[in-house]
Amino acid sequence: MFVNGEWRSDEGAALLDVHDPSTNARFAAVPAGNAQDVADASAAAASAFAAWKDTDSATRAEFLRGFARGLKARQDALVALQMRNNGKPRVEAEIDVGDAIATFDYYASLADTLDARQNARVDHAGGEHFGLVRHEPVGPVGLIVPWNFPLVTSAWKIAPALAAGCTAVMKTSEMTPLIELVYADIAEEIGLPAGVLNIVTGGAEVGIALTSAPELRKISFTGSNMIGAKVMAAVAPRCLPVALELGGKSPIIVTADADIEQAVECIIGGIYFNCGQICSATSRLIVDRSIEPALIEAVVERTRGIKVGSPFDEGAEMGPITTRAQYHKVLDYLAKAKVDGLDCVAGGGGLDLGSGNFIQPTIYRNVPHDHAIWREEIFGPVLATTTFGTVEEAIAIANDTGYGLVGSVVSDDWDRGKAIADRIEAGQIWINTPQIVYPDSAWGGFKASGIGRELGPWGLSGYQGVKHILSPA
Ligand code: NAD
Repeated sequence: MFVNGEWRSDEGAALLDVHDPSTNARFAAVPAGNAQDVADASAAAASAFAAWKDTDSATRAEFLRGFARGLKARQDALVALQMRNNGKPRVEAEIDVGDAIATFDYYASLADTLDARQNARVDHAGGEHFGLVRHEPVGPVGLIVPWNFPLVTSAWKIAPALAAGCTAVMKTSEMTPLIELVYADIAEEIGLPAGVLNIVTGGAEVGIALTSAPELRKISFTGSNMIGAKVMAAVAPRCLPVALELGGKSPIIVTADADIEQAVECIIGGIYFNCGQICSATSRLIVDRSIEPALIEAVVERTRGIKVGSPFDEGAEMGPITTRAQYHKVLDYLAKAKVDGLDCVAGGGGLDLGSGNFIQPTIYRNVPHDHAIWREEIFGPVLATTTFGTVEEAIAIANDTGYGLVGSVVSDDWDRGKAIADRIEAGQIWINTPQIVYPDSAWGGFKASGIGRELGPWGLSGYQGVKHILSPA
């Protein structure tokens, strides 16, 4: 752990075992933090806050650039660690590192001009008064992240928080507790003032301590809806703000005029990237009835050709499920689908590649809309399909979910695609493109997929409060 600028591990602490999901062999163990570590880290963040918030924003920008440089310098090791601990194929592990670097660089560029943008003048009606608007950091914040994109979800929080002038205590996932320690390593290297960024390892106990730490003035959480609700409940008695990035069950709509090859690329990337362990997985394919047979045939053919294996195997396109518990959860869904007689047109079970958490990329065709495979976030490489007759019907099916994180549309008619995109209830829609997320995109969900937005200027404002100063003209 990294608390108040110093590395620590508690004597006799419980160990978090770190596994390689391709083999389930333990390759490291990390001491878990406890409530006292959170208390110390929160106190450190609180005492560092006054000076950090008054540091000029251009200086904070330089620290953020230092993080980007530090990540670049460690790129090979970070890629290898994500392949080892997350089971990500090399190209995906590289995308994650690139994303984290770009995020720090982007927020450095916003921080550069932050001070200059303070005190924006408002001339009020009547001319008697004028206002000055300031954007000030909300205070020391608590950050909680999951295991599926550990380097990225943490960058999306640390970079804007520090840019805004907040100090932070971050809790890493107990499943992937190694990779974000790089941020502590870099903080030390670039001389980040002690207490500005604190990192505590551990599981639920540490998360609970973080959500009840009196010094922290906001909690930003990424993870499941079940735990997100607990986080909200934990801070509710103190009426503190929360940001929640939660789950999804997102649609991909393919219209009759779509280019089949392009549709296949979008469908495959949307469901099999990171072995389907992606909050934005487009796990519900909604396709025009007239092209359904041809599209399904092409998607099934492509799916059957996907090489599943250890990221360290030559040519592996899809790795294992990251955790053993998640692997069993996905297998349970596949077993239920079998019992209920769903039409499985690809995959449908585990893959015996030694002792790893391998699952076959799987497709269920014409899934009833009340089935768990259609309604629930599986967090694995499992696609459910259905058809539509009219665009109205497609939109109604797409929006018939409690979630609202993302959506995709594939259509040769851009105007039609855009009209559909306008009507999908979600925070990010891709038209005729794979799931690319830029640092200046807005990221977050409608409905049960969350509260608030990360990335872009919205990510920064999530760590700021607005102050309006009024005085006579
Ligand atoms: P999770 O909710 O099980 O755990 C998330 C984090 O919360 C972990 O660090 C965990 O230790 C911690 N935690 C557990 N109990 C806690 C408690 N009572 N109080 C505070 N913290 C606690 O999620 P996961 O399984 O690690 O990740 C998968 C989920 O994350 C999926 O639902 C996925 O959709 C979601 N996710 C969302 C986004 C997004 O941007 N919307 C991104 C990635 C993942």
